[in-house]
Amino acid sequence: MNQTNFYVGRPDSVALDTLFRRYWCAKGWAHGVVSDAELAHAKMAGVMFDPANITHDNSVRLAIGMRQKLAPKAVANAFLASLSTRRLDLRSALGSYGAMLNLPAHNYEMGNGISCAVCGDYGASANFDVSVLNFERFKWGGVRHDQPTYEAFDLAWLCSRTIPEPTEGDLDIMRTMIDVLSSLPAAARPGDAEKAIADLFPSNTNERRILIGILGLAGVLIPRDLPTFWNGYPRISERKQPLNKNDWEYPAMWWRGADGVNREALNFWFPRL
Ligand SMILES: [Zn+2]
Repeated sequence: MNQTNFYVGRPDSVALDTLFRRYWCAKGWAHGVVSDAELAHAKMAGVMFDPANITHDNSVRLAIGMRQKLAPKAVANAFLASLSTRRLDLRSALGSYGAMLNLPAHNYEMGNGISCAVCGDYGASANFDVSVLNFERFKWGGVRHDQPTYEAFDLAWLCSRTIPEPTEGDLDIMRTMIDVLSSLPAAARPGDAEKAIADLFPSNTNERRILIGILGLAGVLIPRDLPTFWNGYPRISERKQPLNKNDWEYPAMWWRGADGVNREALNFWFPRL
């Protein structure tokens, strides 16, 4: 299957219900039963997809093509518009675009494990489950922002639809969020940042954790002493990992209150703030 074909479509509530039932239940991740008719409808709606054969090199090419096609402003507007509306599918792309702002064109480079030494994506996946990427995006705002396969998928989704203009209300939420994050104590950790913004917009803890991760990928919340996607493209081995693995995305996991908010990145994405 051609990789460019599975990106079209628009959200449809019946199709989204099928997507969620397929992957999630009250207890968490699930393998829900979906009828052939439901699957066919979800596929027609562009919400679920046939499995695809994916290669690293094609994903990197597609992702870089999307970066050339999509203006940073469009991605930032989609992020802003996601705040009041809770449209998590629109929120994700700032993380993807931020993570590949400086992604170099490259072919798969053998590393220590089974993933690319440059970007961490896999070399090739046969029958890759594309639908789960869409589930993760609608559920949390995406979780694989630093993988070119997800970046290409995520940005193509945004390219294929009209992005709502952020409202004054969205801008106010963002301004308040930046004020709150700028005023945290020097020792504050990402978890403190997540709690501090809890009441500012409709959201749950996991959605806010992903949002903090997205702001890290976009260079807004970054540790001063580590390589980030804002000031270059850190290879996998340069992305410092904690001794005890946690769910925070790099580099937001190392951000502390003392690092503050990076105004340069803020002005790049959100000049209207
Ligand atoms: Zn790579």
